[in-house]
Amino acid sequence: MVQMHENIVGIDASILMHPTTWKASGHVDAFNDPLIDNKDSKKRYRADVLIEDYCAKIETKIEKEVKKAAKRFGEAFNKEEFLTTNARVLGYQEKINTILNRLGKSLENEDLADVKKLIEELEIADPLTGSKNWTDVKQFNLMFGTQLGASADSAMKVYLRPETAQGIFVNFLNVQKTGRMKIPFGIAQTGKAFRNEIVARQFIFRMREFEQMEMQFFVKPGTQQEWYQKWKETRLKWHLSLGMGADNYRFHDHEKLAHYADAAADIEFKFPFGFKELEGIHSRTDFDLKAHEEFSGKKLQYFDHEENKNYVPYVVETSIGLDRMFLAVFSNSLQEEELENGTTRTVLKIPSVLAPTKAAILPLVKKDGLPDVARKIVEDLKWDFNVSYDEKDAVGRRYRRQDAAGTPFCITVDHDTLQDNTVTIRHRDTMEQKRVNVQDLKKIIFEEVAVKSWLMKM
Ligand code: ATP
Repeated sequence: MVQMHENIVGIDASILMHPTTWKASGHVDAFNDPLIDNKDSKKRYRADVLIEDYCAKIETKIEKEVKKAAKRFGEAFNKEEFLTTNARVLGYQEKINTILNRLGKSLENEDLADVKKLIEELEIADPLTGSKNWTDVKQFNLMFGTQLGASADSAMKVYLRPETAQGIFVNFLNVQKTGRMKIPFGIAQTGKAFRNEIVARQFIFRMREFEQMEMQFFVKPGTQQEWYQKWKETRLKWHLSLGMGADNYRFHDHEKLAHYADAAADIEFKFPFGFKELEGIHSRTDFDLKAHEEFSGKKLQYFDHEENKNYVPYVVETSIGLDRMFLAVFSNSLQEEELENGTTRTVLKIPSVLAPTKAAILPLVKKDGLPDVARKIVEDLKWDFNVSYDEKDAVGRRYRRQDAAGTPFCITVDHDTLQDNTVTIRHRDTMEQKRVNVQDLKKIIFEEVAVKSWLMKM
């Protein structure tokens, strides 16, 4: 986002900011999740997530119908047509839409009694115990608070940031002026965010301390729709470039918009537990900058030389969880593969650009000077790539170890290497082995793992 775009710059804002920041952004008053307790199990849930999970189950039924029909019609199957004409599928879809619309409206109107009513009408049970004995739905603020100051009476309540975005808004003018940025331009950052999530489950999908990668793009008022569409496309393309399969992604346009947005969509990824949000793209209007102007008494405006006037820019943001992205890549890449000889191997087919180790250098045996030659190759490659050396166990076992760790290349040094300076290079995914010259290793590895090779495919 930063290196490849001339008009995007990076910053690192602080985690603790003046508490008024969070008053201005609306987080103190409105950053709530609706929670519900089960009286029997004493377990706490997000009421909206219980309802969304219910809808996800109906969606699974749609997927089953599609699979059945695809099998029945074979080559002639048209998924689009089936989804828009099959009576059963349409019925399921309508049910989902009705439920989600009602949920959206009730949350927007703060009608928590209706959220509970919906849970009861749908007969949603505690997923752990099956009990339907629910409390009322209550709002729960997600911000972690702490104290700033030495003594209890003079201490000021501050918050750990629940998103990185506000650090960018309050620094908007500093960056624009010092970087001499012209609209449209973006500010991006990667950093920790904290949320007192009611239920932090599903491994690292939802955590209380997580890392966000956000970019706020400042545009001329009136052009936000155009930029919103552009960033939606650009971000999806970025995801697809990792080669994890187009079928694993979809957009989910929000019916219920946050208080600051005039359009919003999620890029959802098919995690092992279903399609879930991976990244959010939001058109945030001028809500944040205007609110910070109001609460700080300082102007946060841009002078547009072409228009010869000042205005508060509109903002389109892209916001992705680093940990969630890691989970997406990891869960998709870790595979058990049946081999032709009847055995299986565990292989982490992680995109090579992301592989933690790019190559492992393996002497065939621990003697005859082979380790020395292998070490020399490590010494040479380690300036450009993260590589590892492994001499323990039979070479087949070492290949398996590297497959499971996602290492794209294994380079084996054998007795021929001593004669002709060639080695065997084996590719993780194809398991194909080639004999190459030691001098060519750098080029071969670079072509596969370089950021350029990956992004040029976009
Ligand atoms: P959700 O609906 O899952 O709670 P959200 O809509 O509140 O997410 P945003 O505020 O849009 O999420 O945050 C942007 C991104 O940050 C999300 O797309 C997600 O990848 C990541 N994210 C949000 N909350 C968490 C969390 N608790 N743990 C890990 N990642 C998170």
